[in-house]
Amino acid sequence: MTASERDRFEPVLKQAPAGSRSVVPPVAPPVASLVAPPSGPGTAPVTSPVTSPGASPGASPGSPAGSAPRRTRGLVLAGARVVLPSGTVDGGRVVVEGSRIAEAAAEDADVLDLTGHWLVPGFVDIHNHGGGGASFSGTADEALQSIRTHRLHGTTTLVASTVTGRMDALARHAGRLSELAEQGDIAGIHFEGPFISPCRKGAHSAELLRHPDPAEVRKLIDAARGRAVMVTLATELPGGVDSVRLLTEHGVIAAIGHTDATYEQTVEAIDAGATVATHLFNAMPPLGHRTPGPIAALLEDERVTVELINDGTHLHPASLELAFHHAGAGRVAFITDAMDAAGFGDGRYQLGPLEVEVSEGVARLVEGGSIAGSTLTLDRAFQRAVLVDRLPVGDVVAAISANPAKVLGIHDRVGSLEPGKDADLVVLDASFALKGVMRRGEWVVEPVIG
Ligand SMILES: [Zn+2]
Repeated sequence: MTASERDRFEPVLKQAPAGSRSVVPPVAPPVASLVAPPSGPGTAPVTSPVTSPGASPGASPGSPAGSAPRRTRGLVLAGARVVLPSGTVDGGRVVVEGSRIAEAAAEDADVLDLTGHWLVPGFVDIHNHGGGGASFSGTADEALQSIRTHRLHGTTTLVASTVTGRMDALARHAGRLSELAEQGDIAGIHFEGPFISPCRKGAHSAELLRHPDPAEVRKLIDAARGRAVMVTLATELPGGVDSVRLLTEHGVIAAIGHTDATYEQTVEAIDAGATVATHLFNAMPPLGHRTPGPIAALLEDERVTVELINDGTHLHPASLELAFHHAGAGRVAFITDAMDAAGFGDGRYQLGPLEVEVSEGVARLVEGGSIAGSTLTLDRAFQRAVLVDRLPVGDVVAAISANPAKVLGIHDRVGSLEPGKDADLVVLDASFALKGVMRRGEWVVEPVIG
């Protein structure tokens, strides 16, 4: 985005409640404040416990997920400020035909006037453990509940992440999740652990951690039946660099994370094929003047995309700005790293084998108090990035849609609003609150305009 384009957004930004750049809010705002349905203020948009596929997960703006979504054919979305790869267009038009974005509309196509709104690509989350009171380490129904919850918040493409567990349990989860991937419900499986550093384990069970022996890594990706897309590992551990090579040969992303690597060890892993930094800054040594560590190596290398959890808890706004400044907007991917409580509420939860207490939206291990994933949804990450972090909207769209789609190698289908791609899109109001979600041409959240 050019400086002049950025200036054009200023009036919109000034209308919105301004956040402070210098203070990290103590807690993330409640989900309900961003996406509460008109009739139910004060309640989270997804309120029911885990339900079977097809059941409604609760109130939402427009049609609830789980009810028969309205098929849209020949629909013109007109009047919005549309964020395209080439820039932002005022009063732009996006034509939806079937499940795709089309070049031109039929004469009798319906027209939906979105004047005063933003139209952006559907969000792509490459690191997500669950939501809506359920997780991807549970049953297939629980996984579907997590998917539905995040779809209600704009995530139209989602990679399901596991946490450290016993190898046989992980293989079972992978088998179950591979079926969801085959059905197109998720974009693939991400294994976070068990090949991580005991020094930087965060909310992973210490006794279940293992060295990244390539044979063990191979077992997990085999269990995913071709649906493993990413493995997070501490590449400085014995077998780490060989495992990076193995993953790369199999077309699986090697992500450096939960690591105690030095700068030099990180460079070696990147040279071996690692291309993603798992939640940069979190669960890795800090940037030191004599020990720059993994952060410097991951930020400076153009082959690496850095994940950021933009919830106001995991990162100080200045750290986020540092990442955008050094990596550039083209190499940042916003993730949620969400756990069960996302889109659900405070309370006691299970993260793999560990107990977690969520209070005021912040998840912490009951034992030790480590931050244990987030309760973030990507609509909140988007709104925060624009209103609090003051990032240009185009940069936010890149970080939340286009870049993660590129990381997954599916940018030919999703991640931007272009003819021929899936009709995955999000409608936001002038304050960047979520008003509509369409996935593959069907409304997940139908916007109620005017
Ligand atoms: Zn995670």
